[in-house]
Amino acid sequence: MNPQSHVRIMTRMEAFRGLGPKVGHTMGTMASTTDFSLTATPGRQLPVAVRAEGCRIWTADGREFIDACGGAMVMSVGHCHPRLIEALKRQADEVTFTYRFAFSNEPMLELADLLREISPMPRTWSFFNSSGSESVESAIHLALLYWQLRGQPAKTEFISRYPSYHGSTIAALGLSGTSRRNSFEALLTKNAVAQTPNADIRARRTPAAEVEFAIKQLEDAIAARGADKVAGIFLEPITGASGAAVTPPDGYLERVRELCTRHGLLMICDETITGFGRTGTWFGVEQWGVAPDVITFAKGVTSGVVPFSGMLVAGDIADVLMASPDGFPVGHTFSGYPLGCAVGAEMVRVIRDEGLLENARLMGQRLRTGLEAIAATTPHIGDIRGMGLLQGIEFVEDAESLAPRAGAAARVTAAARDRQLMIYSCPTALGSSVLESVLLAPPLNITSTDVDQILDRLSDAIGAA
Ligand code: PLP
Repeated sequence: MNPQSHVRIMTRMEAFRGLGPKVGHTMGTMASTTDFSLTATPGRQLPVAVRAEGCRIWTADGREFIDACGGAMVMSVGHCHPRLIEALKRQADEVTFTYRFAFSNEPMLELADLLREISPMPRTWSFFNSSGSESVESAIHLALLYWQLRGQPAKTEFISRYPSYHGSTIAALGLSGTSRRNSFEALLTKNAVAQTPNADIRARRTPAAEVEFAIKQLEDAIAARGADKVAGIFLEPITGASGAAVTPPDGYLERVRELCTRHGLLMICDETITGFGRTGTWFGVEQWGVAPDVITFAKGVTSGVVPFSGMLVAGDIADVLMASPDGFPVGHTFSGYPLGCAVGAEMVRVIRDEGLLENARLMGQRLRTGLEAIAATTPHIGDIRGMGLLQGIEFVEDAESLAPRAGAAARVTAAARDRQLMIYSCPTALGSSVLESVLLAPPLNITSTDVDQILDRLSDAIGAA
Protein backbone atom coordinates (compact mmCIF):
# COMPACT_ATOMS: atom_id res chain seq x y z
CA MET A 1 0.00 0.00 0.00
CA ASN A 2 1.52 3.35 -0.84
CA PRO A 3 1.79 5.87 1.97
CA GLN A 4 -0.44 8.29 0.12
CA SER A 5 -3.45 5.95 0.08
CA HIS A 6 -2.80 5.05 3.71
CA VAL A 7 -3.23 8.71 4.62
CA ARG A 8 -6.51 8.81 2.72
CA ILE A 9 -7.83 5.74 4.52
CA MET A 10 -7.05 7.23 7.90
CA THR A 11 -8.89 10.37 6.91
CA ARG A 12 -11.91 8.31 6.01
CA MET A 13 -11.70 6.39 9.25
CA GLU A 14 -12.15 9.69 11.00
CA ALA A 15 -15.23 10.31 8.93
CA PHE A 16 -16.66 6.87 9.74
CA ARG A 17 -16.76 7.54 13.45
CA GLY A 18 -20.32 8.12 14.57
CA LEU A 19 -21.83 5.97 11.82
CA GLY A 20 -22.49 3.07 14.16
CA PRO A 21 -20.77 -0.20 14.99
CA LYS A 22 -21.20 -1.95 11.65
CA VAL A 23 -19.07 0.56 9.78
CA GLY A 24 -15.81 -0.74 11.16
CA HIS A 25 -16.22 -3.91 9.09
CA THR A 26 -15.99 -2.00 5.83
CA MET A 27 -12.85 -0.09 6.65
CA GLY A 28 -10.44 -2.96 6.22
CA THR A 29 -11.53 -3.38 2.61
CA MET A 30 -11.10 0.26 1.60
CA ALA A 31 -8.22 0.55 -0.83
CA SER A 32 -8.44 3.37 -3.33
CA THR A 33 -10.23 6.63 -3.86
CA THR A 34 -9.55 6.62 -7.58
CA ASP A 35 -12.27 5.05 -9.70
CA PHE A 36 -11.04 3.02 -12.68
CA SER A 37 -14.48 1.53 -13.42
CA LEU A 38 -16.33 2.95 -16.40
CA THR A 39 -19.04 5.22 -15.08
CA ALA A 40 -21.75 7.39 -16.65
CA THR A 41 -20.44 10.38 -14.73
CA PRO A 42 -16.95 11.04 -16.10
CA GLY A 43 -15.05 13.63 -14.14
CA ARG A 44 -17.42 13.46 -11.17
CA GLN A 45 -16.49 11.26 -8.22
CA LEU A 46 -19.65 9.68 -6.81
CA PRO A 47 -20.00 9.43 -3.04
CA VAL A 48 -18.65 6.12 -1.74
CA ALA A 49 -21.32 4.13 0.10
CA VAL A 50 -19.93 2.34 3.14
CA ARG A 51 -23.03 1.18 4.94
CA ALA A 52 -26.73 0.87 4.22
CA GLU A 53 -29.72 -0.19 6.24
CA GLY A 54 -33.44 0.13 5.54
CA CYS A 55 -33.94 3.27 3.47
CA ARG A 56 -30.65 4.87 4.57
CA ILE A 57 -27.19 4.92 3.01
CA TRP A 58 -24.08 6.30 4.73
CA THR A 59 -21.12 7.51 2.71
CA ALA A 60 -17.40 7.58 3.39
CA ASP A 61 -17.50 11.34 3.91
CA GLY A 62 -19.93 10.88 6.78
CA ARG A 63 -23.20 11.84 5.11
CA GLU A 64 -26.52 10.02 5.60
CA PHE A 65 -28.85 9.74 2.61
CA ILE A 66 -32.49 8.71 2.49
CA ASP A 67 -32.87 6.30 -0.42
CA ALA A 68 -36.37 7.01 -1.75
CA CYS A 69 -35.88 5.20 -5.06
CA GLY A 70 -33.88 2.10 -4.13
CA GLY A 71 -31.16 3.10 -6.60
CA ALA A 72 -33.15 2.00 -9.63
CA MET A 73 -36.30 0.78 -7.89
CA VAL A 74 -34.47 -2.25 -6.50
CA MET A 75 -34.86 -2.11 -2.74
CA SER A 76 -38.20 -3.77 -2.02
CA VAL A 77 -37.48 -4.25 1.69
CA GLY A 78 -34.65 -1.76 2.03
CA HIS A 79 -30.92 -2.32 2.33
CA CYS A 80 -29.45 -5.31 4.13
CA HIS A 81 -32.69 -6.79 5.50
CA PRO A 82 -31.42 -9.13 8.25
CA ARG A 83 -33.58 -12.10 7.21
CA LEU A 84 -32.34 -11.88 3.62
CA ILE A 85 -28.72 -11.63 4.73
CA GLU A 86 -29.25 -14.62 7.00
CA ALA A 87 -30.81 -16.64 4.15
CA LEU A 88 -27.85 -15.74 1.94
CA LYS A 89 -25.30 -16.81 4.56
CA ARG A 90 -27.16 -20.04 5.31
CA GLN A 91 -27.25 -20.97 1.65
CA ALA A 92 -23.63 -19.95 1.09
CA ASP A 93 -22.62 -22.53 3.70
CA GLU A 94 -24.45 -25.27 1.80
CA VAL A 95 -24.46 -24.98 -2.01
CA THR A 96 -23.47 -21.83 -3.90
CA PHE A 97 -23.80 -23.06 -7.47
CA THR A 98 -25.47 -25.77 -9.49
CA TYR A 99 -25.45 -26.06 -13.26
CA ARG A 100 -28.99 -26.42 -14.49
CA PHE A 101 -28.31 -29.27 -16.93
CA ALA A 102 -26.75 -31.36 -14.14
CA PHE A 103 -28.44 -30.54 -10.82
CA SER A 104 -31.42 -28.88 -9.30
CA ASN A 105 -31.12 -27.25 -5.88
CA GLU A 106 -33.39 -26.95 -2.87
CA PRO A 107 -33.97 -23.17 -2.84
CA MET A 108 -34.85 -23.28 -6.55
CA LEU A 109 -37.50 -25.94 -5.95
CA GLU A 110 -38.77 -24.01 -2.96
CA LEU A 111 -38.96 -20.66 -4.75
CA ALA A 112 -40.76 -22.14 -7.77
CA ASP A 113 -43.26 -23.64 -5.34
CA LEU A 114 -43.80 -20.36 -3.48
CA LEU A 115 -44.22 -18.48 -6.75
CA ARG A 116 -47.09 -20.82 -7.66
CA GLU A 117 -48.87 -19.54 -4.56
CA ILE A 118 -48.44 -15.84 -5.31
CA SER A 119 -48.59 -15.81 -9.13
CA PRO A 120 -51.72 -14.35 -10.74
CA MET A 121 -51.52 -17.06 -13.43
CA PRO A 122 -52.82 -20.63 -13.17
CA ARG A 123 -50.35 -23.49 -12.58
CA THR A 124 -47.31 -21.24 -12.84
CA TRP A 125 -43.89 -22.55 -13.82
CA SER A 126 -40.72 -20.53 -13.26
CA PHE A 127 -37.29 -19.94 -14.73
CA PHE A 128 -34.55 -17.98 -12.97
CA ASN A 129 -31.80 -15.66 -14.20
CA SER A 130 -29.61 -12.89 -12.84
CA SER A 131 -30.96 -9.65 -14.33
CA GLY A 132 -34.12 -8.06 -15.69
CA SER A 133 -32.68 -7.99 -19.22
CA GLU A 134 -31.83 -11.68 -19.09
CA SER A 135 -35.35 -12.58 -18.10
CA VAL A 136 -36.78 -10.47 -20.93
CA GLU A 137 -34.45 -12.43 -23.25
CA SER A 138 -35.76 -15.67 -21.72
CA ALA A 139 -39.34 -14.56 -22.41
CA ILE A 140 -38.37 -13.91 -26.05
CA HIS A 141 -36.77 -17.36 -26.28
CA LEU A 142 -39.80 -18.94 -24.67
CA ALA A 143 -42.28 -17.27 -27.01
CA LEU A 144 -40.46 -18.37 -30.15
CA LEU A 145 -40.02 -21.94 -28.93
CA TYR A 146 -43.66 -22.07 -27.88
CA TRP A 147 -44.94 -21.05 -31.32
CA GLN A 148 -42.53 -23.42 -33.06
CA LEU A 149 -43.86 -26.28 -30.95
CA ARG A 150 -47.40 -25.17 -31.75
CA GLY A 151 -46.60 -25.45 -35.47
CA GLN A 152 -46.49 -21.68 -36.09
CA PRO A 153 -42.78 -20.93 -36.61
CA ALA A 154 -43.55 -17.73 -38.53
CA LYS A 155 -44.63 -16.07 -35.28
CA THR A 156 -41.33 -14.36 -34.50
CA GLU A 157 -42.16 -10.67 -34.15
CA PHE A 158 -43.04 -8.72 -31.03
CA ILE A 159 -45.01 -5.58 -30.40
CA SER A 160 -43.98 -3.29 -27.60
CA ARG A 161 -44.70 0.27 -26.62
CA TYR A 162 -43.17 3.70 -26.20
CA PRO A 163 -42.20 5.00 -23.79
CA SER A 164 -40.98 1.80 -22.17
CA TYR A 165 -37.82 0.16 -20.93
CA HIS A 166 -37.13 -3.57 -21.05
CA GLY A 167 -33.37 -3.76 -20.58
CA SER A 168 -29.98 -3.14 -22.11
CA THR A 169 -29.20 -6.40 -23.93
CA ILE A 170 -29.76 -6.02 -27.64
CA ALA A 171 -33.12 -7.80 -27.93
CA ALA A 172 -34.46 -6.24 -24.71
CA LEU A 173 -33.28 -2.81 -25.83
CA GLY A 174 -34.94 -3.47 -29.18
CA LEU A 175 -38.25 -3.87 -27.36
CA SER A 176 -37.70 -0.66 -25.45
CA GLY A 177 -39.24 2.65 -26.47
CA THR A 178 -36.49 4.85 -25.09
CA SER A 179 -33.81 7.24 -26.28
CA ARG A 180 -31.29 4.88 -24.64
CA ARG A 181 -31.54 2.88 -27.86
CA ASN A 182 -30.36 5.73 -30.10
CA SER A 183 -26.66 4.84 -30.34
CA PHE A 184 -27.40 1.18 -31.02
CA GLU A 185 -30.27 1.54 -33.48
CA ALA A 186 -28.35 -0.26 -36.22
CA LEU A 187 -28.57 -3.51 -34.26
CA LEU A 188 -32.13 -3.17 -32.97
CA THR A 189 -35.49 -4.29 -34.30
CA LYS A 190 -38.41 -1.87 -34.45
CA ASN A 191 -40.72 -3.35 -31.85
CA ALA A 192 -41.73 -0.29 -29.85
CA VAL A 193 -44.52 0.94 -32.09
CA ALA A 194 -47.58 1.50 -29.89
CA GLN A 195 -47.95 4.43 -27.52
CA THR A 196 -48.26 3.66 -23.82
CA PRO A 197 -51.62 4.97 -22.56
CA ASN A 198 -51.51 8.06 -20.35
CA ALA A 199 -47.90 8.77 -21.37
CA ASP A 200 -48.88 12.12 -22.85
CA ILE A 201 -50.89 14.20 -20.39
CA ARG A 202 -51.13 16.99 -22.98
CA ALA A 203 -53.57 14.89 -25.02
CA ARG A 204 -56.17 15.42 -22.26
CA ARG A 205 -58.21 12.41 -23.37
CA THR A 206 -60.82 10.93 -21.06
CA PRO A 207 -59.87 7.54 -19.57
CA ALA A 208 -62.29 5.78 -21.93
CA ALA A 209 -60.89 7.63 -24.98
CA GLU A 210 -57.35 6.84 -23.83
CA VAL A 211 -58.16 3.13 -23.71
CA GLU A 212 -59.57 3.28 -27.25
CA PHE A 213 -56.57 5.28 -28.49
CA ALA A 214 -54.00 2.90 -27.01
CA ILE A 215 -55.80 -0.29 -28.02
CA LYS A 216 -56.07 1.01 -31.58
CA GLN A 217 -52.31 1.53 -31.58
CA LEU A 218 -51.85 -2.14 -30.75
CA GLU A 219 -54.50 -3.30 -33.21
CA ASP A 220 -52.89 -1.28 -36.00
CA ALA A 221 -49.50 -2.78 -35.17
CA ILE A 222 -50.92 -6.30 -35.28
CA ALA A 223 -52.70 -5.60 -38.58
CA ALA A 224 -49.53 -4.12 -40.12
CA ARG A 225 -47.52 -7.26 -39.38
CA GLY A 226 -50.25 -9.90 -39.53
CA ALA A 227 -51.21 -11.82 -36.40
CA ASP A 228 -49.65 -14.94 -37.92
CA LYS A 229 -46.23 -13.21 -37.66
CA VAL A 230 -46.58 -11.84 -34.14
CA ALA A 231 -45.42 -13.93 -31.19
CA GLY A 232 -46.50 -11.59 -28.41
CA ILE A 233 -46.92 -8.17 -26.86
CA PHE A 234 -44.47 -6.94 -24.22
CA LEU A 235 -45.56 -4.30 -21.74
CA GLU A 236 -44.90 -2.94 -18.29
CA PRO A 237 -48.22 -2.80 -16.41
CA ILE A 238 -47.04 0.53 -14.95
CA THR A 239 -43.90 2.01 -16.47
CA GLY A 240 -40.80 2.52 -14.36
CA ALA A 241 -37.78 4.41 -15.59
CA SER A 242 -39.49 5.56 -18.78
CA GLY A 243 -42.09 8.19 -18.10
CA ALA A 244 -42.13 7.61 -14.31
CA ALA A 245 -44.99 5.38 -13.19
CA VAL A 246 -47.23 5.96 -16.20
CA THR A 247 -50.36 4.11 -15.09
CA PRO A 248 -52.92 2.76 -17.57
CA PRO A 249 -56.59 3.72 -17.39
CA ASP A 250 -58.89 1.02 -16.04
CA GLY A 251 -59.92 -1.30 -18.82
CA TYR A 252 -56.71 -1.08 -20.85
CA LEU A 253 -54.88 -4.17 -19.59
CA GLU A 254 -58.14 -6.13 -19.66
CA ARG A 255 -58.51 -5.16 -23.34
CA VAL A 256 -54.87 -6.10 -24.08
CA ARG A 257 -55.58 -9.51 -22.55
CA GLU A 258 -58.65 -9.91 -24.76
CA LEU A 259 -56.71 -8.72 -27.82
CA CYS A 260 -53.89 -11.23 -27.21
CA THR A 261 -56.33 -14.10 -26.74
CA ARG A 262 -58.31 -13.17 -29.85
CA HIS A 263 -55.24 -12.83 -32.09
CA GLY A 264 -53.25 -15.69 -30.58
CA LEU A 265 -50.43 -13.61 -29.08
CA LEU A 266 -48.64 -14.11 -25.80
CA MET A 267 -49.25 -11.34 -23.30
CA ILE A 268 -45.88 -10.79 -21.64
CA CYS A 269 -45.77 -8.43 -18.68
CA ASP A 270 -42.41 -7.03 -17.67
CA GLU A 271 -42.78 -6.65 -13.90
CA THR A 272 -39.12 -5.94 -13.26
CA ILE A 273 -40.24 -2.90 -11.27
CA THR A 274 -43.89 -3.60 -10.44
CA GLY A 275 -43.33 -7.16 -9.17
CA PHE A 276 -42.89 -8.30 -5.58
CA GLY A 277 -45.29 -5.95 -3.89
CA ARG A 278 -44.22 -2.58 -5.25
CA THR A 279 -47.77 -1.43 -6.03
CA GLY A 280 -49.42 -3.13 -3.03
CA THR A 281 -50.18 -6.44 -4.77
CA TRP A 282 -47.67 -9.20 -5.48
CA PHE A 283 -47.66 -8.26 -9.17
CA GLY A 284 -48.86 -5.07 -10.85
CA VAL A 285 -51.30 -6.77 -13.25
CA GLU A 286 -53.32 -7.95 -10.27
CA GLN A 287 -54.47 -4.36 -9.81
CA TRP A 288 -56.68 -4.99 -12.85
CA GLY A 289 -57.39 -8.68 -12.22
CA VAL A 290 -55.53 -9.69 -15.38
CA ALA A 291 -53.67 -12.98 -15.88
CA PRO A 292 -51.02 -12.62 -18.61
CA ASP A 293 -49.19 -15.58 -20.18
CA VAL A 294 -45.72 -14.64 -18.98
CA ILE A 295 -44.40 -12.31 -16.27
CA THR A 296 -40.76 -11.29 -15.95
CA PHE A 297 -39.46 -10.02 -12.62
CA ALA A 298 -36.11 -8.88 -11.14
CA LYS A 299 -34.89 -6.09 -8.82
CA GLY A 300 -37.29 -6.30 -5.83
CA VAL A 301 -37.17 -10.10 -5.68
CA THR A 302 -33.93 -9.91 -3.69
CA SER A 303 -33.86 -6.23 -2.66
CA GLY A 304 -30.29 -5.87 -3.90
CA VAL A 305 -28.84 -8.68 -1.77
CA VAL A 306 -27.82 -10.69 -4.83
CA PRO A 307 -28.41 -10.11 -8.57
CA PHE A 308 -31.41 -12.23 -9.45
CA SER A 309 -34.46 -12.31 -11.73
CA GLY A 310 -36.95 -14.68 -13.23
CA MET A 311 -39.86 -15.45 -15.46
CA LEU A 312 -43.27 -16.88 -14.55
CA VAL A 313 -45.05 -18.89 -17.20
CA ALA A 314 -48.73 -19.86 -17.21
CA GLY A 315 -49.35 -23.60 -16.99
CA ASP A 316 -50.90 -24.02 -20.44
CA ILE A 317 -47.85 -22.41 -22.09
CA ALA A 318 -45.37 -24.32 -19.94
CA ASP A 319 -47.16 -27.60 -20.70
CA VAL A 320 -46.28 -27.24 -24.39
CA LEU A 321 -42.59 -26.68 -23.62
CA MET A 322 -42.39 -29.43 -21.03
CA ALA A 323 -44.07 -31.94 -23.36
CA SER A 324 -41.21 -31.51 -25.84
CA PRO A 325 -38.00 -33.55 -25.40
CA ASP A 326 -35.86 -30.42 -24.98
CA GLY A 327 -38.14 -28.59 -22.53
CA PHE A 328 -36.79 -25.06 -22.15
CA PRO A 329 -33.17 -25.47 -23.25
CA VAL A 330 -31.98 -21.85 -23.28
CA GLY A 331 -30.74 -19.78 -20.39
CA HIS A 332 -27.59 -18.55 -18.74
CA THR A 333 -24.80 -20.11 -16.72
CA PHE A 334 -26.28 -18.71 -13.51
CA SER A 335 -29.90 -19.67 -14.25
CA GLY A 336 -31.29 -21.17 -11.06
CA TYR A 337 -28.52 -19.69 -8.92
CA PRO A 338 -29.01 -21.15 -5.39
CA LEU A 339 -28.06 -17.95 -3.55
CA GLY A 340 -30.57 -15.88 -5.54
CA CYS A 341 -33.27 -18.52 -5.13
CA ALA A 342 -32.67 -18.72 -1.36
CA VAL A 343 -32.94 -14.95 -0.95
CA GLY A 344 -35.99 -14.82 -3.30
CA ALA A 345 -37.78 -17.51 -1.29
CA GLU A 346 -37.05 -15.66 1.94
CA MET A 347 -38.36 -12.48 0.31
CA VAL A 348 -41.77 -14.09 -0.24
CA ARG A 349 -41.86 -15.07 3.44
CA VAL A 350 -40.68 -11.63 4.62
CA ILE A 351 -43.35 -9.83 2.59
CA ARG A 352 -45.98 -12.19 4.01
CA ASP A 353 -44.75 -12.22 7.63
CA GLU A 354 -44.30 -8.45 7.84
CA GLY A 355 -47.59 -7.62 6.09
CA LEU A 356 -45.75 -5.57 3.48
CA LEU A 357 -48.39 -5.60 0.74
CA GLU A 358 -50.70 -3.88 3.21
CA ASN A 359 -47.93 -1.49 4.29
CA ALA A 360 -47.16 -0.63 0.65
CA ARG A 361 -50.80 0.31 0.17
CA LEU A 362 -50.98 2.35 3.39
CA MET A 363 -47.63 4.11 3.02
CA GLY A 364 -48.28 4.54 -0.70
CA GLN A 365 -51.45 6.41 0.15
CA ARG A 366 -49.59 8.59 2.66
CA LEU A 367 -46.89 9.34 0.11
CA ARG A 368 -49.47 10.11 -2.58
CA THR A 369 -51.43 12.44 -0.32
CA GLY A 370 -48.21 14.26 0.55
CA LEU A 371 -47.19 14.56 -3.10
CA GLU A 372 -50.59 15.97 -3.98
CA ALA A 373 -50.21 18.51 -1.19
CA ILE A 374 -46.84 19.55 -2.66
CA ALA A 375 -48.42 19.75 -6.15
CA ALA A 376 -51.04 22.14 -4.78
CA THR A 377 -48.27 24.62 -3.89
CA THR A 378 -46.69 24.92 -7.34
CA PRO A 379 -47.88 25.39 -10.93
CA HIS A 380 -44.96 23.24 -12.10
CA ILE A 381 -46.35 19.82 -11.24
CA GLY A 382 -48.62 18.58 -14.03
CA ASP A 383 -49.27 15.05 -12.84
CA ILE A 384 -48.83 12.74 -9.87
CA ARG A 385 -49.29 9.09 -10.79
CA GLY A 386 -48.57 5.53 -9.85
CA MET A 387 -49.81 2.96 -7.36
CA GLY A 388 -48.66 1.94 -3.91
CA LEU A 389 -45.01 2.77 -3.38
CA LEU A 390 -44.30 3.52 -7.03
CA GLN A 391 -45.12 7.20 -7.51
CA GLY A 392 -44.12 9.52 -10.35
CA ILE A 393 -44.18 13.31 -10.61
CA GLU A 394 -44.24 15.11 -13.97
CA PHE A 395 -43.01 18.71 -14.16
CA VAL A 396 -44.62 21.22 -16.51
CA GLU A 397 -44.38 24.93 -17.19
CA ASP A 398 -47.97 25.58 -16.17
CA ALA A 399 -51.34 23.88 -15.84
CA GLU A 400 -52.74 25.47 -19.01
CA SER A 401 -50.09 24.42 -21.51
CA LEU A 402 -48.78 21.37 -19.59
CA ALA A 403 -45.60 22.03 -21.59
CA PRO A 404 -42.65 20.02 -20.24
CA ARG A 405 -40.50 22.12 -17.91
CA ALA A 406 -37.12 21.72 -19.60
CA GLY A 407 -34.41 20.24 -17.35
CA ALA A 408 -36.70 19.99 -14.31
CA ALA A 409 -36.14 16.25 -13.67
CA ALA A 410 -32.36 16.69 -13.44
CA ARG A 411 -32.63 19.89 -11.40
CA VAL A 412 -35.06 18.46 -8.85
CA THR A 413 -33.02 15.25 -8.56
CA ALA A 414 -29.84 17.26 -7.96
CA ALA A 415 -31.57 19.52 -5.43
CA ALA A 416 -32.89 16.43 -3.63
CA ARG A 417 -29.39 14.91 -3.60
CA ASP A 418 -28.08 18.14 -2.07
CA ARG A 419 -30.62 17.52 0.70
CA GLN A 420 -29.43 13.93 1.03
CA LEU A 421 -32.54 12.50 -0.57
CA MET A 422 -32.16 10.07 -3.48
CA ILE A 423 -34.92 10.07 -6.12
CA TYR A 424 -34.86 8.71 -9.69
CA SER A 425 -34.70 11.11 -12.62
CA CYS A 426 -36.71 10.03 -15.68
CA PRO A 427 -36.44 12.51 -18.55
CA THR A 428 -38.34 10.69 -21.29
CA ALA A 429 -38.42 11.38 -25.01
CA LEU A 430 -41.89 11.34 -26.55
CA GLY A 431 -42.09 12.56 -30.13
CA SER A 432 -40.16 15.82 -30.31
CA SER A 433 -40.64 16.54 -26.58
CA VAL A 434 -38.72 15.44 -23.53
CA LEU A 435 -41.08 14.78 -20.64
CA GLU A 436 -39.64 15.78 -17.28
CA SER A 437 -40.48 13.44 -14.46
CA VAL A 438 -39.02 11.81 -11.37
CA LEU A 439 -39.83 8.56 -9.63
CA LEU A 440 -40.09 7.52 -6.00
CA ALA A 441 -39.94 3.91 -4.92
CA PRO A 442 -39.14 3.65 -1.21
CA PRO A 443 -39.05 0.23 0.47
CA LEU A 444 -42.30 -1.60 1.20
CA ASN A 445 -41.43 -1.62 4.91
CA ILE A 446 -41.01 2.15 5.14
CA THR A 447 -42.43 3.90 8.20
CA SER A 448 -44.72 6.93 8.24
CA THR A 449 -41.90 8.96 9.83
CA ASP A 450 -39.62 8.20 6.91
CA VAL A 451 -42.35 8.94 4.36
CA ASP A 452 -42.85 12.33 6.00
CA GLN A 453 -39.12 13.02 5.94
CA ILE A 454 -38.97 12.15 2.25
CA LEU A 455 -41.86 14.53 1.60
CA ASP A 456 -40.21 17.34 3.58
CA ARG A 457 -36.92 17.08 1.73
CA LEU A 458 -38.64 16.67 -1.63
CA SER A 459 -40.85 19.68 -1.09
CA ASP A 460 -37.79 21.70 -0.24
CA ALA A 461 -35.93 20.42 -3.31
CA ILE A 462 -38.81 21.17 -5.66
CA GLY A 463 -39.07 24.68 -4.21
CA ALA A 464 -35.36 25.25 -4.76
CA ALA A 465 -35.20 23.80 -8.28
N1 PLP B 1 -37.38 -4.18 -17.49
C1 PLP B 1 -37.71 -3.08 -16.80
C2 PLP B 1 -39.14 -2.67 -16.71
C3 PLP B 1 -36.71 -2.33 -16.16
O1 PLP B 1 -37.04 -1.21 -15.48
C4 PLP B 1 -35.37 -2.76 -16.25
C5 PLP B 1 -34.29 -1.98 -15.59
O2 PLP B 1 -34.45 -0.88 -15.14
C6 PLP B 1 -35.08 -3.91 -16.98
C7 PLP B 1 -36.10 -4.61 -17.58
C8 PLP B 1 -33.66 -4.40 -17.10
O3 PLP B 1 -33.23 -4.91 -15.89
P1 PLP B 1 -31.65 -5.09 -15.63
O4 PLP B 1 -31.05 -3.74 -15.59
O5 PLP B 1 -31.60 -5.83 -14.32
O6 PLP B 1 -31.12 -5.92 -16.74
